Amino acid sequence: MKVPEIFGENVFSLQVMQEKLPKEVFKSLKKTIDEDRPLDPGVAAVVANAMKDWAVEKGATHFTHWFQPMTGITAEKHDSFITPVAGGKVIMDFSGKELVMGETDASSFPSGGVRAIFEARGYTAWDPTSYAFIKDGTLCIPTVFLSYSGEVLDKKTPLLKSMRALNREALRILRLFGNMSVKRVYPTVGAEQEYFLIDRKMYDARKDLVFSGRTLFGAKPPKGQELEDHYFGPIKARVVAFMQDLDTELWKLGILAKTRHNEVAPGQHELAPIFTITNVASDQNQLMMETMKKVAAKHGLYCLLHEKPFEGVNGSGKHNNWSMSTDTGLNLLDPGTTPAENGQFMLFLAAVVQAVDNYQDLLRLTVASAGNDHRLGANEAPPAIVSVYLGEELEAVIEALENNRKYEGKGRQVMQLGVDTLPELPKDTTDRNRTSPFAFTGNKFEFRMLGATFSIAGPNIIINTIVADTLRQFADELEQAADFTGALHDLVERTFRVHERILFNGNNYSEEWAAEAKRRGLLNLPTCADALPRFADRKNVELFERMGVFTEREVRSRMEIMLENYSKVLTIEGLTMVEMAKKDIYPAVNAYLSELCGAAYRKETMGAPVKADKAAIARLSADNEALYFAAEEVERLLAEAKEAGDAEQTARFFADEVIPAMQKLRSYADDMEQNTSKKYWPFPTYGDILFSV
Ligand code: ADP
Ligand code: MG
Repeated sequence: MKVPEIFGENVFSLQVMQEKLPKEVFKSLKKTIDEDRPLDPGVAAVVANAMKDWAVEKGATHFTHWFQPMTGITAEKHDSFITPVAGGKVIMDFSGKELVMGETDASSFPSGGVRAIFEARGYTAWDPTSYAFIKDGTLCIPTVFLSYSGEVLDKKTPLLKSMRALNREALRILRLFGNMSVKRVYPTVGAEQEYFLIDRKMYDARKDLVFSGRTLFGAKPPKGQELEDHYFGPIKARVVAFMQDLDTELWKLGILAKTRHNEVAPGQHELAPIFTITNVASDQNQLMMETMKKVAAKHGLYCLLHEKPFEGVNGSGKHNNWSMSTDTGLNLLDPGTTPAENGQFMLFLAAVVQAVDNYQDLLRLTVASAGNDHRLGANEAPPAIVSVYLGEELEAVIEALENNRKYEGKGRQVMQLGVDTLPELPKDTTDRNRTSPFAFTGNKFEFRMLGATFSIAGPNIIINTIVADTLRQFADELEQAADFTGALHDLVERTFRVHERILFNGNNYSEEWAAEAKRRGLLNLPTCADALPRFADRKNVELFERMGVFTEREVRSRMEIMLENYSKVLTIEGLTMVEMAKKDIYPAVNAYLSELCGAAYRKETMGAPVKADKAAIARLSADNEALYFAAEEVERLLAEAKEAGDAEQTARFFADEVIPAMQKLRSYADDMEQNTSKKYWPFPTYGDILFSV
């Protein structure tokens, strides 16, 4: 296989466009893409035709508008290219109108009450800034998804709006530094993706995995991750075959799959792509997750993307590496070497720090889900408390700024921003703080709180918007300054001083940190029920309206969707538990008990000792009885939840009442699993599943 030849072969990329489109059309489209301008309608028809010819040549028969509704996954509805012509024949046709706009019934997608049933129509509109591609014989056209009244129903539109806001405000800052040549600033993202691979047969044998993506029962296996022998360990042949196939499929889709390795838990792995512009990274991460599932199926495997498929074993997250780039190739979070570059870097750095401190709530809630609640704070992922790690070197620089002292690190000194140079910052990866939720890693920030299943659009909408708004504030101040260098120094120094509390270099997993964070007044929002209602806080609504990212109605609808999703997921989990408990576990243990009782009875008549039998029978009978009633209790609470009130009250009820009842139910089952004959236990155990590949 020649990778450069297959790379991007299923993508209608810039290069393909240049080949297939008339010069003028290509130029016009390129302008649209580069400068984020509206599309010239005359261009659409020509592009559509070229796209169709290219796709048909590659064997495609259908096209679809591919979009990202609030479900968190992607949506597609295939239409074939066929158009009837005289003589009972068909031709393959695709019009500019079909490319640019599609109509779809919006009523079956989550809208959080934005779209009433009577106005159920929605439409999709081509986003020419991400490329069309072929997947399973279908030409996929990346689109945004809106209601006819103009309300946004997807994750893509606000992402594009947040990118626009960031561009606008970052350009203002660059102009202040005398940079006139940069035309565009855009956020970049590299999303590292964790996942589990298990044998397909194990998956099929577990209703909980099938219905909820995670195991709702399961005792810890004798061997877990305690030997720490899986991380970066040699990769098994079957997994390598999967990874090879996966990389190939991703490369064909133009996705820069780069790094693959084993993760901490048995059966857990990671894939990291090379970073790219955020909206493309977001599309590609969705495609990556979808492709993982598909390729796994071909290998007789199942790919689990749930945040916490197994209790007591590390869950899966997603690391969102984020920075800002210019069209001239500058990384704005790369400390430069000249005083001016350093000053600019420190300003952008300060903006991120202030943004994170002021909007801890938004960052926390944008990674809130029923699944991720199991991870955050579980000593394997960053806690539910948001803080920023800058590293010792930068903190020392900041301290020097604050004390107006000379910074004496690495032989260099800094006194005044914009005048002196910063010391060279070590790019060494060894001293990185892997427990930090928001860590500076040399030339980018790594937001580590995302769950594995998340669309990265949500978190990036927040990061872009809060940084954009902070840059706006900075630009407002600096544009008024008579002495720019002095004002810059003051602003940066003040920002770090005011927001010092958000900086933390220590161990985020420690209990002391939770106490310390509380003293510092940082937010600690452990569950979705705590975090999500903050979305619609006045200051947040004002932020989104100011930056043109969401209207208040959109904020409220999104909050409602997230809260409802939490309650729905827990309902499914609860019902699945009740079913497994009553239909599988209870009868299985009863059957085993009956065998034990029979054996004990017969042994006793022979005068054989039966102390062990009696102990086992007593323990299992008690557990099974308790299991039965705990299942009834979960059932009762699920019924009660329906009357709990609005979305927020319902979520609260699930967090406070239903989850503890589910945990109780689980505890009886897990105890019995360890005391029941393997022959009787109704589904594969953790040991079976985790070491199945
Ligand atoms: P590690 O964190 O494992 O040392 P890297 O630093 O190479 O690995 O990068 C991790 C991820 O961060 C990769 O997906 C990489 O492409 C991405 N990344 C690197 N630079 C940037 C950047 N400027 N903007 C966004 N993501 C980046
Ligand atoms: Mg990482």
